Amino acid sequence: MIVLPRTYICVEEEYMPSRGVYVENGKVYAAVIGRLIIDTVNRKVSVIPFKKENVPRYGDIVIGQVVSMKDEIAFIRIEAFEVSKPLKHSFTGILHISQVANEKRLPTLYDAIRTGDIIKARVINNQIPLLLSVKEPRLGVILATCSKCGALLTKRRSASQLICPNCKNSEQRKLSMDYLLIESREYNKG
Ligand SMILES: [Zn+2]
Repeated sequence: MIVLPRTYICVEEEYMPSRGVYVENGKVYAAVIGRLIIDTVNRKVSVIPFKKENVPRYGDIVIGQVVSMKDEIAFIRIEAFEVSKPLKHSFTGILHISQVANEKRLPTLYDAIRTGDIIKARVINNQIPLLLSVKEPRLGVILATCSKCGALLTKRRSASQLICPNCKNSEQRKLSMDYLLIESREYNKG
């Protein structure tokens, strides 16, 4: 489990505070951003800090997979920086419908992305969960599979249309200019 500084962990009596934590009024809090380690054998709690270069921050371009979504919001599991530099830990990112297009607001986020898509996005805050934007032309979906048969969708001439080479199903996305220009073997596991 990833924790942020000042995240409440437990009361002091439950676990002995060890590295990366501090105690205030008998309560143990995380002192750094990192991975929470609860040692149940020795009854110790610690937080192993992340190296700074392994935490995406404002302005970074990241790559992640859409894990769940609703009409207005999608949850992204961020797994790498752009240029195939994988993160040691995945982070949760949130894409709101207002961060998809500059011009018009979409009726629904389903017109832009779908669960399972791989997207390239820019981080627009400095906190977890990371907030994401795909407004720029090079940002958006970089890999998508057919919602009917699961085959990899290919790009049509039109800017936002994808077509399934297998069943001819046509789908719409907010596509990145870099659609399918990634090493698909890494992401096309399903
Ligand atoms: Zn298909």
